[in-house]
Amino acid sequence: MRLVLLGPPGAGKGTQSARLVAKYAIPQLSTGDMLRAAVQARTPIGLEAKAIMDSGALVPDDVVVGIIGQRIKEKDAAKGFILDGFPRTVAQARALDELLDKEGLRLDAVIELSVDENALLARMEKRVAETLASGGSVRADDNPQSFKTRLEAYRTQTAPVSSYYAGKGELKQVDGMETVDAVTAAIDHALGG
Ligand code: ADP
Repeated sequence: MRLVLLGPPGAGKGTQSARLVAKYAIPQLSTGDMLRAAVQARTPIGLEAKAIMDSGALVPDDVVVGIIGQRIKEKDAAKGFILDGFPRTVAQARALDELLDKEGLRLDAVIELSVDENALLARMEKRVAETLASGGSVRADDNPQSFKTRLEAYRTQTAPVSSYYAGKGELKQVDGMETVDAVTAAIDHALGG
């Protein structure tokens, strides 16, 4: 099963990915997580990406396409994967098509979690409060200013990715405003399960 999960920041992609990982025994490939690991490890990519990510803007396409191009060739991704946070631009979507074509692979589905934009800031604030309460560390881009930039990047650069997949007849939309369990059920349904 090769899936793409689309949706704005705070749509619940991470939560639903974790459930899909358990159900299909395939890895979640989150470019956000991979980039944060690169920042943490101070690799050249991490050093380049840090300020961009902190601001809420998108890292250059060639950087994330390079990361994903390598990652999907790893052994654990042979039976499938869930892409979370990638592709985020139409150029990335086209690059993904090329990467998959070269390997003779194709996506099984692209699932978009649709969420009312007004709910997103509150979700982010709730996540920050819960993280702090449990003694965890808050992401540098989980603040109102960067969040605004992330939403703007989503609107201008990522929303066209939905249209790209819709145009190819691959997009399935799921209401991300329902409860976590209801969203999981709707994804199962969209995947024909
Ligand atoms: P979100 O909660 O906004 O979905 P992510 O963890 O997916 O956050 O991504 C955090 C940040 O990492 C983004 O704001 C962006 O700077 C960078 N990033 C992640 N994936 C991509 C991508 N596919 N293209 C460009 N930048 C990315």
